[in-house]
Amino acid sequence: MAGAESPATPDPFADKGFATRAIHAGQPHDPTSGAVVTPIVLSSTFAQEAVGVHRGFEYSRSGNPTRQALERCVASLEGARHGLAFASGLAALDVVCRDLAPGDRVLLSNDAYGGTYRLLARIYGPLGVEVVVADLSDLTAVEAALSRPTTMVVLETPTNPVLRILDIEAISALAHRSGATVVVDNTFATPYLQQPLALGADVVMHSSTKYLGGHSDVVGGFLATSDDARAERLAYLQNAAGAVPGPFDCYLVLRGVKTLAARMEQHCRNAAAVADLLVGHPAVGEVFYPGLPSHPGHAVATRQMRGFGGMVSFTMREGEAAAVAAVARTGIFTLAESLGAVESLIEHPGRMTHASVAGSALEVNPALIRLSVGIEDVADLLADLHMALAPR
Ligand SMILES: *Cc1c(COP(=O)(O)O)cnc(C)c1O
Repeated sequence: MAGAESPATPDPFADKGFATRAIHAGQPHDPTSGAVVTPIVLSSTFAQEAVGVHRGFEYSRSGNPTRQALERCVASLEGARHGLAFASGLAALDVVCRDLAPGDRVLLSNDAYGGTYRLLARIYGPLGVEVVVADLSDLTAVEAALSRPTTMVVLETPTNPVLRILDIEAISALAHRSGATVVVDNTFATPYLQQPLALGADVVMHSSTKYLGGHSDVVGGFLATSDDARAERLAYLQNAAGAVPGPFDCYLVLRGVKTLAARMEQHCRNAAAVADLLVGHPAVGEVFYPGLPSHPGHAVATRQMRGFGGMVSFTMREGEAAAVAAVARTGIFTLAESLGAVESLIEHPGRMTHASVAGSALEVNPALIRLSVGIEDVADLLADLHMALAPR
């Protein structure tokens, strides 16, 4: 299990800063050519000198050099001993869920990513797994939900789409008391802004499709953990179930990760300016951004995050029709699902990303608009929103 074994040689960048590790960790110069950039190794199979004598790679589902570079790099960024890359974020989450058995109980945030809810409730639910949805930003509700034996707690913070902040440290402590494994979806924050393992989580999950890749050109997923036995089991499942990313996809994520620190700084700056514009805009009702002192999770976010991220949501005072009209009017913000890339996106969660949770506990306000604020010039972004929100 190439992914699960501890790096054979200690990473010389292990004690370096985040941006340095993003560019160098797990990515030594290619020993055969001196290539500075990690080669994309397309080979599905690897020559063996004798039966079982090889350089750590046999078959690319089990392990691939480009994937290994990505796995070591992102593991380093999460402060994890082990990293595993997957074909998508949901493929990564699915592997975490594979050992759930009938009678097991999973606690999920009431505004979890729709696909996370769907995987648990519609795929694992019918197999006998009890999926409990609660407001995990309310620690009293967390404690109540955990009063019955619970196998796993799956949380994201900031949440999607209303950017609630969950206290990873407090929830992990409560979950561990009732024997639950804590899985944190760190897609929105990225390891640059938030380090869930250091706060007590057991497994970190990513949709690397978003900020890790950062350029809307690859779908991928990731798991990180520092628990050796758990890593070995997850690597077994990665190989046995087979939802691995191709080498080219791994290269794209690795390339994206190199600029993660610089991009996140700019995402945070631009999103803060956008939130400031929206607060007090006459067409806007509520603004959801954890960087706003008025946000109920602001204090926890300040404690557990380095910055407040690039996602901003808000409601239109005049309701759903006004929201649907506004998202179609922007010129720089593109009307599209997904998030976390260099270009700014705008969407209507009720009819787009969260349409699949309509009628469930995760249903969203129909007047809500979600922005993924990109790293364009902030003046252009602000002018675009001004225009889209202007009365007509
Ligand atoms: C996109 C996303 C996922 C799912 O990831 P895919 O790569 O699309 O499978 C899970 N969680 C969050 C928070 C996401 O934004």
